[in-house]
Parts: sequence; structure tokens; C-alpha cells
Amino acid sequence: MSVRIGVFVCHCGTNIGGTVHVPEVVAYAATLPDVVHAEGNLYTCSEDGLSSIRNQIKEHRLNRVVVASCTPRTHEPLFKKNCELAGLNKYLFEFVNLREHCAWVHMNQQEDATEKAKDLVRMGVAKASLLTPEEDLSTEVLPSSLVIGGGISGLSAALTLAHQGYHVELLEKSDRLGGLLKDVNRVFPTNTPTADLITPLIDSALQHPNIAVHFKAELVEIKGFIGNFTASVKVNNETLDLNTGTIIVAIGAVEFKPDGMFEYGRFANVMTQLDFEKRYPSGCTGLKRVVMVNCVGARIDDTPYCGRFCCITAMKNATLLKEADPEAEVTVLHRDIMAFGKVFEAYYQKALRMGVRFIRYSADRPPEIIGSRGRAGSVRIYHELMGRDLELDADAVILTTPLVPAGDNEALSRMMKIPIGNEGFFMEAHQKLRPVEFPADGIYIAGCARFPAEIAECIAQGYAAAAKAAAPMSRGRVVTEALVSEVNPLLCSGCGRCLGICPFGAIDWTELRVGPERTRQVAAVNPTECKGCGLCAASCLSGAIQIKGFTDEEILAMVNAAAG
Ligand SMILES: Cc1cc2nc3c(=O)[nH]c(=O)nc-3n(C[C@H](O)[C@H](O)[C@H](O)COP(=O)(O)OP(=O)(O)OC[C@H]3O[C@@H](n4cnc5c(N)ncnc54)[C@H](O)[C@@H]3O)c2cc1C
Repeated sequence: MSVRIGVFVCHCGTNIGGTVHVPEVVAYAATLPDVVHAEGNLYTCSEDGLSSIRNQIKEHRLNRVVVASCTPRTHEPLFKKNCELAGLNKYLFEFVNLREHCAWVHMNQQEDATEKAKDLVRMGVAKASLLTPEEDLSTEVLPSSLVIGGGISGLSAALTLAHQGYHVELLEKSDRLGGLLKDVNRVFPTNTPTADLITPLIDSALQHPNIAVHFKAELVEIKGFIGNFTASVKVNNETLDLNTGTIIVAIGAVEFKPDGMFEYGRFANVMTQLDFEKRYPSGCTGLKRVVMVNCVGARIDDTPYCGRFCCITAMKNATLLKEADPEAEVTVLHRDIMAFGKVFEAYYQKALRMGVRFIRYSADRPPEIIGSRGRAGSVRIYHELMGRDLELDADAVILTTPLVPAGDNEALSRMMKIPIGNEGFFMEAHQKLRPVEFPADGIYIAGCARFPAEIAECIAQGYAAAAKAAAPMSRGRVVTEALVSEVNPLLCSGCGRCLGICPFGAIDWTELRVGPERTRQVAAVNPTECKGCGLCAASCLSGAIQIKGFTDEEILAMVNAAAG
């Protein structure tokens, strides 16, 4: 069948029409090879414009449509859908951006802008003539989720999904649920017992008919993609294969142990905040003089980030010490006070009112622990405002340390091809626009596995990850665009560059039979996971990879049209 192209050039009000002389571009488009119809519209995206496209497809038996208007970001789906309504495969549509790529950037060069618009339309038409019809890909999504980690983030996500009727496989590495909070006695900012918060969640998860909890579970392998993941999990020397449609990573983080710093590990009365919470679960310590040192292991070269809530943890334990014994002398040595938001600022003020002393130190003059009879006896600190050293007697020294990545981050990152950032925590697809999602579809993140966060944030992220995971599960299918990459196995040299470069983990090895008894490894793309970004095609030295809709032939046709 011969190629019959229709070109629709939009004025976009004055956005394009105020700079580009649209009638001239339309007249030019009508002269291009294979173009059988060309028209201008005031707004091609209006119902008038859209119905005109549909009518012309029928009247002129158009089998390619080129719209030269604004940005594909907002309007390409609309025009593609419109082509489908007229019975034309949506992949036979080509978009030319005359607004951002032409009119807006050449506002004061009307003649040149009109010439450039002609060039862009000529390129679009050259590509359109080579377009081929494609079909969207559709995959079934199992209504179940694998939640990795049974802390407050994982519990929040698991319960949200379970309440919505989805099955949850909850993996917990240890023999108990609750994560770090099992060792935390009271929680800021309310100072209520942690058990009041975490125990009902644990009980609900254990009793919920939609949640299967696996304790002492070791994740060995994950295969598959959104809709149908298979996790091999070792539980008590038995290997289970769990099939789920989505995955939520909530493996939390661990408290930094400051071995060798500030006499930690040398004197028994030097401990971390978590050690303190474990050692004195009732809150009654009998300690009269306590010195806390903040920012231990935080905001230094190895761990350059701020632990986010460490200052608040120190305030919590300082105020609890003062509540238990108002006569106790509690001093917090800090580099800065990070009390973000209204609630935590009020919490800080409360600690000050209760008589907790806060003294600032600078990183280049850190506090010094002075030993006495095999214990920490006092802490020497240079007081910046007084301009001299102070020596504070101490029955106990509590070091406030940040959370650091849990041990399994790297293994999980490799297993699921999910990214980790410079600090070793998992990195979401986009901090602001896709905060609990990974670039790979169907895998989500919540809580301290992402970055140190206090309970309220962890719960919110657990809910958010559950909501994201529920979306494809509720639809039952995911439909993905057909414009993905394809490997020609005969051209593939098996170098593996594309496997390493794909940010979505969409490329894997497959065996290619090259003789009766011989096979060789070549790359293969999973179209459901591929986003069509083109990195693999650009990096392939053998020219074995093409992106549908952006093949070498199509791009070269545009380049030749631009040059001609
Ligand atoms: C000393 C201290 C005091 C704190 N006090 C407060 C407070 O008062 N108020 C407040 O809001 N926050 C407080 N926090 C912070 C709070 O502990 C965290 O916000 C919260 O515990 C994070 O929950 P999570 O589920 O993200 O991670 P975690 O609690 O770390 O839970 C992660 C879970 O995943 C499991 N896991 C790890 N790896 C795997 C794996 N590969 N497979 C399966 N399971 C795995 C772990 O065993 C754990 O059970 C405190 C933290 C500390 C250290």
C-alpha cells in the first residue's frame, strides 16, 4: 500500500502563529513526497482540530499523520488516541514540535522561524513515511505483593495492602517484627511507650488472613518483572518460591556503631542512644550526670549526611532522664541543632525549659572523654562562647550516631537492579516526582532503607508505597508502549555493554543456537521492563540494537531531510 501522509499545522493561537507563518508552512508541506493532504488549524488539539484529523484520515485514506504543533509531553497521547478513533494505528503518528523547538525560541526572527518550521515538518514527514504499525504490550499483574522488611515501614505497607484485599508475603530477616522500634522505649514527640504503637501493628500483621509472615527469611534471588515476580526465599533450610505482582523494599537501616570513637567499646559507660534505650528500658537509670555527644559518625568524610532525627532522639532521652530525676544534670554537646518543623522546635524548647543544657562544639575541636578508674569519668569540651575548656563530670556518656545502610542493600541492589546512592541507601526514581518508586516498574521503597526517617515519615512512605503498588494490581494488567528496544541476535557480539548500561534492568542474556550442538550468549530485551530510553542502542558497538519508532533508518531519514 502506498504511503499517504496528512500534515496538520497548528497556530496554537499566537504561540506558533504569532511567529511562524503557518499558511506558508502548510503550502510547503503539501509539496512534500507522499503528502496527500495538508491543512492549518487554529488549535489542532481542540475538538474542531481533532475531528478534522479524523475526517481527513477517512476522506483521503491517510495511513500516516503528522501534527506540527506544541509539545509531545502533553499532547502526543491525545493525537495518538484520536488516530485510533479513526481506525489508524497510533504508532503511524508523528509529532513535530513547532512551539518549543521553533516559535518560542525564535520569537523575533519570523522569517527564519518559518523556514525552520518547514525544515522540521520535512524531517517529520521523512520519518513518518517509514513508521510501521505496532501493538501496545499488555501483561497480567498478580494481586499480591512481596514486602521485604518487617519494621514500621514494611508493616504499614503490608497492612494497607492486606486491608485492600491483596495478598502480602512479608519477609523478615530476624525472628521478630517491629525492626529498630523493638529496642526503642518511648517515641518522640509524644514520649509514649513504643509498644503502644508497634504491638497492635505486629499483632494485626500476624493475624491478618491476607498476610503470610516469613521469619528468618533470606532472599536468595528475584526473577521476573512487574506483574509476575518470583522470589526464591530460604526459610529454615527450605526454599520457597513466592510469586507476586509487585515488591516493596522496606529493609530499614542500622544504627552506626562508633567503634574506637570517643572511647566507645573501651569504657562500659560510653554507649550509643540505642544501647542506652536497651540498657534502661524502664527509663529509671539512677544516673545523676549524663553527657550526650551528638553528630558522632555523622557529617564527617565517611558519612557526610545529617542523620535527620538524631538531635531529636538525644532530646527525647535527655528529657526522659530529667523527667525521671529533675535533679539529674543532662548536657547535650552538639554541632548544630536540627529540630525541623514546628513540632520538633517545640520539643527542643521543652527540653530547654526542663533544664537540659545544650553546648555547641565545632568539628575541629571535638569533645574528649577523660577516663577514671576504668570508666569514662568526665568530658572535656571547648566552650565556643566562653572561649575556654570546660570539664563536665559524667556517670555515663551517650553518643548520638546516625542510621547507616542495612547490610543487604548492595546484594538487593544487584538482585533487583535497583539503584543505591552515594551514602549507600536506596535511591528512588525521582526525589520529588516519584518519591517511593524505583526506575524499574513494580518495585517500590519505603522508610529508612531510602534514608533515615522518623516514624511518621516511615508510616507515610509505607502507605505511599502500598498505594503505588496497589495501582497496577487493582487494574490487573499493565499496558506498556511498543516503542522499546529490540536486539538482533545475529548481530549481537555478546559484549554485555547494554546489560550494564540499562537503568531499568530490562536486558538479560539468552542462548542463541549457532550450530547443532553449539549456542552462544546474546542480549535480549524484556519489552515489559524497557522504557525505550535508547541508552542500549546508543552504546551497542555492533549496531545490533534498534529502538522501535527511532530506528537508524528513521533517524537517518530525518538527518537527510534536514540536510536536503
Ligand atoms: C536510638 C533510636 C531511637 C529512635 N527513636 C525514635 C523516636 O522516638 N521517634 C521516631 O519517630 N523515630 C525514632 N527512631 C527512628 C525509628 O527507629 C525509625 O524511624 C524506624 O524504626 C524505621 O523503620 P523501618 O521499617 O524503615 O526500618 P527498621 O526499623 O530498620 O526495620 C527494617 C526491618 O527490615 C528487616 N530486614 C533488614 N534486611 C532485611 C532483608 N534483607 N530481608 C528481610 N528483612 C530485612 C530488619 O530486620 C527490620 O526488621 C529512633 C531510632 C533510633 C536508632
